[in-house]
Amino acid sequence: MNLLLIAGHGAGDPGAVWNGRREADETRRLAADVQQALSGRCTVGRYPEARNAYSDYQTGSLNQTAQFSQYDAVLELHFNASAAGTDGNLKGVEAYVTTTETDTALASAVCSALESLGFPNRGVKRKNWAVISAARRQGVPAVLLEVCFLDDGDDMALYDRRYNEVAAALADAAANALGWKGEKPMTYEEFVSMQERYEQERAARLPGAWSAQARTWCETGGVLNDGRYGSHVTREELAQALYNLAGKGR
Ligand SMILES: [Zn+2]
Repeated sequence: MNLLLIAGHGAGDPGAVWNGRREADETRRLAADVQQALSGRCTVGRYPEARNAYSDYQTGSLNQTAQFSQYDAVLELHFNASAAGTDGNLKGVEAYVTTTETDTALASAVCSALESLGFPNRGVKRKNWAVISAARRQGVPAVLLEVCFLDDGDDMALYDRRYNEVAAALADAAANALGWKGEKPMTYEEFVSMQERYEQERAARLPGAWSAQARTWCETGGVLNDGRYGSHVTREELAQALYNLAGKGR
């Protein structure tokens, strides 16, 4: 599972600007934290931060930079702005897919994820924005997410207050929508403990009848007689068995 995250605007284009905040900065900060939150669950590619995917579309270098066909899905992050630039009327999250998109799972999931944190859900809409259309033409489902309204004080206050949850919720939504089956990344301690359990289970396996003669010979000869016939042999145990075989260990 392989997701391409694109932070909208940048490379000289700030996107929406309000109250000292720039959309291009917010999309990059959030993309980094969504990527971090997805680690271990999903391979995440990031469109080069110093570039502006839309400008690259205009100059014809988008496809080569993005390599869309390597990905299972594309999520392009933006923040909304109302034409009036005033606080109050327009709030919430919305997501866009192209007019021909048949796979709206990711778009619905990211909207619902932010709705669960208190953002009004403006729903999944269809528009052939340049970058998601380019991805779709390469056969990759693509979503343009307008996280919330950068020029709405309530939206941004909620966004700031629950920022960590926003990043985590978007990551969870993407992982679920892209078919992550729920395995969590394993810690080293968990790996060791499972390995030990596996070895114990192996050791407890009963040997087959085919080896009966050989086992009797080993046991009566004192070569190998701990009965752990399903376990793996360490070099240390091999050394001891050979020593026993040579008659020195008895
Ligand atoms: Zn934007």
